[in-house]
Amino acid sequence: MGASADKQPGADIPLPPPYHGIHASPPWDRHYKIAWSKPTNRSDRVRVHRHTCECKATIYELCSAGGLMFIRRTKRGVKVEVRESERLVSARMRLLWLRLLSGEAH
Ligand SMILES: [Zn+2]
Repeated sequence: MGASADKQPGADIPLPPPYHGIHASPPWDRHYKIAWSKPTNRSDRVRVHRHTCECKATIYELCSAGGLMFIRRTKRGVKVEVRESERLVSARMRLLWLRLLSGEAH
């Protein structure tokens, strides 16, 4: 009797592809080496302006705090490792961010 109601038309419509954010390119052979250091426990409020895609194990975030900008790198593995770049004025750090995304800096 109710055997014909098991399949609704349209139930097999595929979901949209998953959203991907920015992917940083692999580093060039002779890339500029960003000096990563352990985060300092500054009591400033950090704002994240940009971040790379969550699908990667390593995520980069372009952050600002106290009028300066820096890049935060989070490596997610068995342990989570957080490192921060030096802090620079906005224009210089945004340039470094673009160099990081292009693989020119790493
Ligand atoms: Zn992705």
